[in-house]
Amino acid sequence: MSEVIQHAMETLQGLGVADGIGIGTAVCISTRVGDLYQIPLPEEGVGDEVERFRQAVEQAARELRGLRLKVGRNLGEELARIFDAQALFLADDAFLGRVEERIRSERVNAEWAVFETTREIQARFDALDAAHIRERSEDLRDISRHLLRCLRGLQLHQLTELQGDIVIVADDLTPSDAVRLGRANVVGFAIEHGGRTSHSTIIARSLNLPMVTGLEGIHRRLSERPEVPVIVDGTAGLVILYPEEEVLARYRRQQLDLERQALELVSAGKVSAITRDDVEVAVMANIDLPEEIDDGVRFGAAGVGLYRSEFLYIERSPELPTEEEHLAIYRRLLESAAPHPAIIRTYDLGGRKIAREVMATHEENPVLGLRGIRLTLARPEIFRTQLRALLRASVHGDLWIMLPLVSIVDEVRRFRACLDDVMAELEREGLPFRRDLKLGIMVEVPSAALISDILAREVDFFSIGTNDLIQYAMAVDRNNEHVTDLYQPLHPGMIRMLRMIVRNARRAGIAVSLCGEMAADERMTPVLLGCGLRRLSVAPRLVPAIKGRVRELSTRQLAPIVEHCADLPTAQEVEAYLQRAIGEG
Ligand code: PEP
Ligand code: MG
Repeated sequence: MSEVIQHAMETLQGLGVADGIGIGTAVCISTRVGDLYQIPLPEEGVGDEVERFRQAVEQAARELRGLRLKVGRNLGEELARIFDAQALFLADDAFLGRVEERIRSERVNAEWAVFETTREIQARFDALDAAHIRERSEDLRDISRHLLRCLRGLQLHQLTELQGDIVIVADDLTPSDAVRLGRANVVGFAIEHGGRTSHSTIIARSLNLPMVTGLEGIHRRLSERPEVPVIVDGTAGLVILYPEEEVLARYRRQQLDLERQALELVSAGKVSAITRDDVEVAVMANIDLPEEIDDGVRFGAAGVGLYRSEFLYIERSPELPTEEEHLAIYRRLLESAAPHPAIIRTYDLGGRKIAREVMATHEENPVLGLRGIRLTLARPEIFRTQLRALLRASVHGDLWIMLPLVSIVDEVRRFRACLDDVMAELEREGLPFRRDLKLGIMVEVPSAALISDILAREVDFFSIGTNDLIQYAMAVDRNNEHVTDLYQPLHPGMIRMLRMIVRNARRAGIAVSLCGEMAADERMTPVLLGCGLRRLSVAPRLVPAIKGRVRELSTRQLAPIVEHCADLPTAQEVEAYLQRAIGEG
């Protein structure tokens, strides 16, 4: 009889970044090397897996020999010797034997065994701290990557092989991994790194999956233990390992309550968002994945305030979406949003949202690099397909095209020139489109905010992206859980900036909305209305709550309150003052 190990229940406190409750079995993945999962194997699958690993080793050795020959011939013997050092690992019984032993004893896939063994040996190398050992460590890392590539070519393990509900435990999570994994039988995420406005967090919310971040060391701990039952409580920021029966029962009851509440929200979303002094506010939907539009309609959104088209690229990667694929999705968005507008943002790739294989750019500091409109203008051949599809879709509704990360006027002008060009092309081809579509920009870079009076003459609308505006204005990485305290939407500087952007838009007579996560926080609604905003865009499921908050407020009362906030010294004082002046409701 096998021994049953009893584990005591353990509760870990992290940062709750996406609400909800997920109950499942932990599956560890490492995004440092991409697409790497820990797949538990059945007893009878172990022999085949060892064989698969041996084939990968043979293939890697063959490829390395070829590479060495080529480099020797073209670049010289000295460089070619680098590959000799790497090849040693492929003949090293200690390394290969340890990987095989791990596959057998832990009953895991070969990729995971290679990854864990590499990590184990590297830790030993690192402890020695000598230059030649460091080189060995780098060689090992390279050869391990090579092996992983070969294994992938042999036969890729998929998460869908696993039965039942899965909680993803990861050291880090890129937005593209979040999209792909969220589509499998995943019920929650427990992650080491990431802040409230990280894109992977935003995706977890789009998929309606709970996420807790800031769980330092969880990946390493759980990767050493197979099949750990886990509860992810995204609302309280808790992750519970080996939950006791009564705790499980309590959380299951809470899950049912949440489902009931979601249904109630549908009817709450039907009312309009009109303040006590009769001012109408448009509460629109942020859409990341096209199917979310159904929720947008169900929860009563007044159109699409932001469609992040980059996820279309991320999902299709390494292929590029075709013009017809773009067109079908844009048409669906426009028709569902009608009679309201659908604001479709041209792809905001770059930064951390790199569709790796398509756009891969190697930058020291990608968040300040070739991102958003910069990447768009740098790769016109890719962008033209999107633009053609947008224009062709324009006949199906009220299309507003929006450009991300604009920091200088010239970017808008260059875009307009492309737009005119593509319009002329479609005209020549006899394809119908609307000329009266609106062109606007995200205001999310401080330089754009500071010249918003000038930019307002160049475009038809603004949408304020506070996620990035706060990041760039306050110099806080939105993905970094160590500086969440400094990520302050209520910083008086931010309030000043918002007032300035809205004032400049209104003076120029153009529409202005706010689509950053700040719009989704009910505590911020008074501030945003007080700044003069009348359009907010939030995740579909949050539309009813924000509408409800709008109905409790009176804009006449808010303007002077916000004016005072802009003169207070700290975000904490702003918050305390708001509490006193407005209260909870
Ligand atoms: C923003 O920056 O506020 C925004 C809405 O865009 P994203 O979160 O996609 O960067
Ligand atoms: Mg942004």
